[in-house]
Amino acid sequence: MSDKYDVVVIGAGPGGYVAAIRAAQLGLKTACVEKYVGKDGKQALGGTCLNVGCIPSKALLDSSWKFHEAQDGFQIHGISTKGLSIDIPAMLERKDKIVKQFTGGVTALFKANGVTNIEGHGKLLAGKKVEVTDSEGKTTIIEAENVILASGSRPIDIPPAPLTEDVIVDSTGALEFQSVPKKLGVIGAGVIGLELGSVWRRLGAEVVVFEALDKFLGLADEQISKEALKTFTKQGMQIRLGARVTGTDIKRKQVTVSFTDADGEQQLSFDKLIVAVGRRPYTENLLASDSGVDMDERGVIFVDDYCATSVPGVYAVGDAVRGAMLAHKASEEGVMVAERIAGHKTAMNYDLVPSVIYTHPEIAWVGKNEQQLKTEGVDVNVGVFPFAANGRAVAANDAGGMVKVIADAKTDRVLGVHVIGPGAAELVQQGAIGMEFGTSAEDLGMMVFSHPTVSEALHEAALAVNGHAIHVANRKKR
Ligand code: FAD
Ligand code: AMP
Repeated sequence: MSDKYDVVVIGAGPGGYVAAIRAAQLGLKTACVEKYVGKDGKQALGGTCLNVGCIPSKALLDSSWKFHEAQDGFQIHGISTKGLSIDIPAMLERKDKIVKQFTGGVTALFKANGVTNIEGHGKLLAGKKVEVTDSEGKTTIIEAENVILASGSRPIDIPPAPLTEDVIVDSTGALEFQSVPKKLGVIGAGVIGLELGSVWRRLGAEVVVFEALDKFLGLADEQISKEALKTFTKQGMQIRLGARVTGTDIKRKQVTVSFTDADGEQQLSFDKLIVAVGRRPYTENLLASDSGVDMDERGVIFVDDYCATSVPGVYAVGDAVRGAMLAHKASEEGVMVAERIAGHKTAMNYDLVPSVIYTHPEIAWVGKNEQQLKTEGVDVNVGVFPFAANGRAVAANDAGGMVKVIADAKTDRVLGVHVIGPGAAELVQQGAIGMEFGTSAEDLGMMVFSHPTVSEALHEAALAVNGHAIHVANRKKR
């Protein structure tokens, strides 16, 4: 078999592996180069998301939620759970099994679709050649008509909190604590910090989250982020806003964190500290100096709206390019690029990439929030429906939060759906489907929603936009 491919993908995360599968489905001779080595010492496909991101974090979020519910949420149903305990190594083993199931699944999908899996580090050379260096340092050159760069991202580290073997860790280390830390510090109140902080809080850790910004969840709708801050604080997570970490000092496995906030210089001590201050593209040693592909000073590869780089036939997708660092964004870019290589005119709707924070309650949104629309001078109508008035949520004893639908005041077209509460991610997806087809709030209000479901909260919020909600007093009467 010759070493010339129609498509060579570098990186087998959700951007790269999906691009490779789609390209192969379209009849293109495709190879994917991946260097990640899993816990068993063998190459593992699936990237950050499957190995140390979305999937293992959700496995731990689900285990810890079950424990928390058994401890604090069962009594109200008349269920007693005396003598409740949790076996942390067993919880971690379950997580690892799930990871293996899914990374192995990608290997099987590559085989089924005829994608050639190449182990090693890929580097783009001039003329769309890819140099692959295997674990023994042996290099091979493969040629491609098209190259897709999908090398993903890495956690950012900050000088005041250098990582250590087992006290100061990044998100990957935070998936591996062998016991529940008594006191846990988290730097960064972003999605990853909140999710991982929640896992260990539910299992009993005292959690303090340091956030340099004064504003909590700045990208979310303000009404939703205010509710979230209230709820997390009630859950016992201490979220310190305007608190910038300036240094750390480890003595006898205890880390003392120095930080400054409105009250000046302060210190707090912890058993473990998670650094979750964001991620940056992983593009080191990815491009030869004459590859022709450009990136900015942070390593973000420049691409156009269709993920094409400045070199014809070379594309880049996922966390390595501009836009939200989300698995579903990476995957859809992968599909778009594969289809465009095959001659289709596929484009992606970047305005409707949903965001989700998998805490409890979940927080999710799609489209624009109220403050963004106000800044843009768009006149809007807003409908809000609290889960406290939703039968299914109350029956489940999970009735915190709300659904908020924002529509253009002139056209009634839905511009944003924002949810904090049970099933937020799934509800927002329903909003996203409607929005993709240009739904109005009235359209959503006219649809039949099953009773009793938490989805009815979306229905009622859409009705509330025009003052027609049935199960809550309308702010605006029509
Ligand atoms: P990656 O998944 O990072 O994959 C890139 C791959 O390329 C890696 O396997 C890497 O080894 C390989 N690679 C890099 N350079 C080379 C090279 N030169 N040669 C060969 N191989 C190379 N997103 C969500 O949407 N939902 C979530 O719930 C979610 N949870 C997360 C939780 C955590 C703790 C973390 C850390 C992230 C989470 N994310 C989540 C983000 C998500 O993981 C990323 O957005 C997604 O993985 C990006 O996909 P990608 O394909 O661009 O890159
Ligand atoms: P995200 O980029 O969404 O993962 O969030 C990371 C968060 O970490 C951001 O909100 C940053 O403001 C915050 N952050 C970065 N550096 C520090 C620091 N030294 N101390 C406290 N918070 C920080």
